[in-house]
Amino acid sequence: MYDSIIIGSGAAGSTVARKLAEAGQHVLVLEQRPHIGGNCYDRPDAYGIMIHEYGPHIFHTNEEDVYQFLSEFTDWYLFGHEVVANVHGSLLPIPFNLNTLYKVYGQEKAAELEKLLIAEYGAGNRVPIMELKKNTDPQIQAIADYVYENVFLHYTMKQWGQTPEEIDPEVTGRVPILLSYDNRYFQDKYQGMPKKGYTVMFEKMLNHPCITVRTSADCKSCMEFQSDKVLFEGAEFKGNVVYTGALDELFGCKYGRLPYRSLEFQFEHLKEESFQGRSVVNYTVSEDFTRITEFKYLTGQQDAEGTTIVREYPFAYTGLKGEIPYYAILNNKNRELYQKYVEELRLLKNVYLLGRLAEYKYYNIDAIVKKALQLADVIRR
Ligand code: UDP
Repeated sequence: MYDSIIIGSGAAGSTVARKLAEAGQHVLVLEQRPHIGGNCYDRPDAYGIMIHEYGPHIFHTNEEDVYQFLSEFTDWYLFGHEVVANVHGSLLPIPFNLNTLYKVYGQEKAAELEKLLIAEYGAGNRVPIMELKKNTDPQIQAIADYVYENVFLHYTMKQWGQTPEEIDPEVTGRVPILLSYDNRYFQDKYQGMPKKGYTVMFEKMLNHPCITVRTSADCKSCMEFQSDKVLFEGAEFKGNVVYTGALDELFGCKYGRLPYRSLEFQFEHLKEESFQGRSVVNYTVSEDFTRITEFKYLTGQQDAEGTTIVREYPFAYTGLKGEIPYYAILNNKNRELYQKYVEELRLLKNVYLLGRLAEYKYYNIDAIVKKALQLADVIRR
């Protein structure tokens, strides 16, 4: 009856489902949560303010095909996303850029340092903090020490429970030192929000006569992954299966749990017009939370009365009911463990792994949509 079963309805699952349906396949989407959209899920809160239930998601991309594909299901509220760090009460542009340099060092000293940095790395370039730290010039060393201490060390300790040295350099490299006056957090061509939110966008994507969506449906209640075949409702399923969930959970975590970082989101509604006057403030030297997001500045919502904010408190995921694995902890040991689970699938040629959880990777929304478009191309042949 179904040509493909997609497990999970986030950005990955919804994109594959749509493309396969457009190619004429009958697709079943199984979503264990009571709603679609994965961690992009957004909804109005009790005060009518659009919130991101699983933390702020800012879409950004340079990929034309991704932007065009998503634009079939939404209009956009486009803006250049900016972030500041609260460093002992001063608000500094993040990523640390030339504007930040002048704020920290003052006109005269900063002008000298700017020349030095540009001679070393070139105007407009991006330098990961762990690269900058290797520089032996004493003045550049001093900048690196400042940025490391005031932007990266404490935030990273909160977010990962580890120092920047201990985590994969790809992670801190996401927010490099920027040798330009561009205050935007991302330099991508398109950045912003689906105008009516992510949930509406994914609802439209899944709204296709060849797609059936079952929510509150744990795949394990109707599927079985055996070593050489997949069962669906008791019979062998020979169609394609795209799995976007956590891979260890498919196998009862038999080799041990894959480590993840989780987050607790504390939402607060305030009667005042504005809390921080901007979308995101990172707390890089103080507090137990990493950042505060004020949603109306993220979504551009105009008709909101009062304002809703969220604080993010990271912690180590343990797999307890109600906890959500948000970030894979990338290191060799964890990748080896992940590979053991991948091995379990070696005889299942019709099962594909896709997404942050199933691939144990740190994907942005656009990267996973791109990957999903490519996978759909492979499967439908
Ligand atoms: N980071 C930091 N200070 C900041 C911003 C980022 O130390 O002010 C580090 C931290 O380790 C974080 C990583 O850079 O986990 C990636 O940041 P990003 O904002 O991309 O994280 P996400 O929004 O995906 O949680």
